[in-house]
Amino acid sequence: MTDFRERAAALDAGDPLAPWREQFVLEPDLVAYLDGNSLGRLPLRTRDRLAAFVREEWGGRLIRGWSEGWVDLPTQVGDELGALVGAAPGQVVVGDSTTISIAKALHAAASLRPGRDELVLSSADFPTDRYIAAKVARDRGLTVRHVEPTPDGGLDLEPVLGERTAVVLLSHVDYRTGALLDLPALTSQIHAAGGVVVWDLCHSLGVVPTGLDAADVDLAVGCTYKYLNAGPGAPSFIYAAERHLPGLEQPLPGWWSAADLFAMADEYSAAPDVRRLLSGTPNVAGLLAVREGVAMAAEAGIEAARTKSERLTSFALDVLDEAGLEVLTPRDPARRGSHVTVHVPGARAVTEAMVERGVVPDFREPDLVRLGLAPLTTSFEEARRGLAVLTDVLQE
Ligand SMILES: *Cc1c(COP(=O)(O)O)cnc(C)c1O
Repeated sequence: MTDFRERAAALDAGDPLAPWREQFVLEPDLVAYLDGNSLGRLPLRTRDRLAAFVREEWGGRLIRGWSEGWVDLPTQVGDELGALVGAAPGQVVVGDSTTISIAKALHAAASLRPGRDELVLSSADFPTDRYIAAKVARDRGLTVRHVEPTPDGGLDLEPVLGERTAVVLLSHVDYRTGALLDLPALTSQIHAAGGVVVWDLCHSLGVVPTGLDAADVDLAVGCTYKYLNAGPGAPSFIYAAERHLPGLEQPLPGWWSAADLFAMADEYSAAPDVRRLLSGTPNVAGLLAVREGVAMAAEAGIEAARTKSERLTSFALDVLDEAGLEVLTPRDPARRGSHVTVHVPGARAVTEAMVERGVVPDFREPDLVRLGLAPLTTSFEEARRGLAVLTDVLQE
């Protein structure tokens, strides 16, 4: 039997990101929080920033706040977030929920390929992605083509790509298995077939480096309340490559995407820049929380976060292997994101028993337990404690 307590201590001692943990609210009642992939922990600085915003800016400035800076937050925070995903300024806005951003990105992508009539996505994709894709396809007269992930977590697009392919929607990291797709290679493959790609970065934003510009990605979206710790319901981002922006269409044009926000013009004319992807008034508190989360991820360094994430998931796999559990997550660290998923019969009851003992994992229907390992907030010792409770519960 490996002494995982000793190994965790050694890994924590050699972890350059270890001090970041103290920058977050650590729940006194929890033994281990392994759900940062669904809702990241609250950063102390975000707690303070939002309190100051409520007191001084909202409370003190009221409507004047818009002209004193709030109005530029969707694009400013967009540029800051863009730097994390390898996007040059002017291509990212932050404002709507992920679900809405997916719908906007899919419509925009489809409008770039008017002569083609197929929308491709993985049958294993997150429900909201599949539901929205189905609706966009119906609205635009497209046919949905599903691809099954391969047993090793990859995606073979070859059989479905062709001259009818308009848009391909792909999740960078599979929300269930944690499998990570090869974003540059798949993007080139889709382009070679003449299609455009929309990448969903929900489970990679903040933990896996993503060179959107370098890979020539067309559009991308992603969620900020997971590894960016921006809080429940914090606004998502939407990226559109600069080459597509002139004339890019989206389905929800509102006053915030108009050329002049305050002109109140009779006729709509879209903003010439990335603001054309906005719709209505964004949530300022949410944007400020995204700004703090992005700043922390940038200060810690996305490469350092990736390195620690690989070590955390490797450590978890070793513990799970020794316990003889069935792991669905790819073995190769280069092919997985930052959570590890085990297949356990009775997963719901197992999750409930873990929560009773102060360990919060993540349950996914029907029989999966996901263990989210957030590089800025999860220590190796915390992961060890949580996994020990999982194996104890399963033994009983
Ligand atoms: C978390 C997540 C979402 C969440 O969408 P919301 O609009 O924020 O509810 C969507 N898609 C994927 C792949 C996710 O992981």
